Amino acid sequence: MSQTPKNIAILGSTGSIGRNSLSVIHNLSDRFNVTYLSTNTNIELLQNQITQFKPRGVVVLDEKKAPALRLIAGDSVEILTGREGLLEIVRRDDVDIVINSLVGFAGLKPTIEAIKHHKNIALANKETLVVAGELVTSLAREYGVSLLPIDSEHSAILQCLAGEQWPRISKIILTASGGPFLNLSKDEFSSITVERALNHPNWKMGNKITIDCATMMNKGLEVIEAHWLFGIPTERIDVVIHPQSIIHSMVEFVDGSIKAQLGIPDMKIPIQYALTYPDRVQLNGGKVDFPKLQMLTFLAPDRDKFRCLQLAYDAIALGGTAPAIMNAANEVAVQAFLEKKIPFQRIPELIEKALDSQPNHLSPDLEHTFQSDHKTREYVRTLL
Ligand code: MG
Repeated sequence: MSQTPKNIAILGSTGSIGRNSLSVIHNLSDRFNVTYLSTNTNIELLQNQITQFKPRGVVVLDEKKAPALRLIAGDSVEILTGREGLLEIVRRDDVDIVINSLVGFAGLKPTIEAIKHHKNIALANKETLVVAGELVTSLAREYGVSLLPIDSEHSAILQCLAGEQWPRISKIILTASGGPFLNLSKDEFSSITVERALNHPNWKMGNKITIDCATMMNKGLEVIEAHWLFGIPTERIDVVIHPQSIIHSMVEFVDGSIKAQLGIPDMKIPIQYALTYPDRVQLNGGKVDFPKLQMLTFLAPDRDKFRCLQLAYDAIALGGTAPAIMNAANEVAVQAFLEKKIPFQRIPELIEKALDSQPNHLSPDLEHTFQSDHKTREYVRTLL
């Protein structure tokens, strides 16, 4: 069956998810066509992507970098700049699907704009749902667009839920690798360097998410993401540490049966599933070799040691803009840690201070969410 290829815009095409997405699209060129790409600053890689994928336009977030790209790219491609450039491309008619792999709160506005222009969303930017999950999911329903997760855990849950219905589900079990400090005692956390924190055992990812994995905030963000994506209360979302990252998450049903989705840790699998859902197509990559693995292990997360995980459960229980406050404090704290301005264990302390001090708007609109984000960032910066 031949069909017209769907046009894709990738927000953040030079990052880890963006590069994997292009690799998936390259192998499915009869189904998908790239019309727009974007980068923050990496114009060298963007130029390579322009040569290979021939998009109609690109966005360079850093306006100072745009003239250099124009020199090498010539007139072959339209070059837009800044945040407004991202909003502009997601509105265009030659976009059917937006892959949002931006980092942090900055992913929210383009997601909302894309939904309002009837684009289907493949979402890698989990912060969008953490800070405004209720608003974004209800907007997607209102505009009749699909909001499909690229996050490996949420893709696993989506796959486990195929053919199932709500009253049958008793809980969601998110797996977590535990990150590089799983076996480090809390006393040893003071010795953690940026270099060690950036060395994730199973996944190669961008810096922000890698630090979130080391603090386990990533799993906290994913609990909130799962809550909004699947409409399940967080009391029924468990986290279990599974260091091998082979089981990507599980769903437990009312009869005690559990479905799990397994695969090697390769983001191309969830990216491709989000693009072809509910279909599956060939993907040439590594496969799970059970005899070689020998065993899969599990343990409970230590919420005292990994305080960020508990803070995420606390924030969603508080409701309102508390998750947005938590997220903003985390983004500022992680950036400060990466810049070696604060030690690793200061990250949860700053988030807790922000949650304790910043006013929580209980029925937030988008304006409240932006305000909470902005005020929290200012507040946390005064503590650095
Ligand atoms: Mg994940």
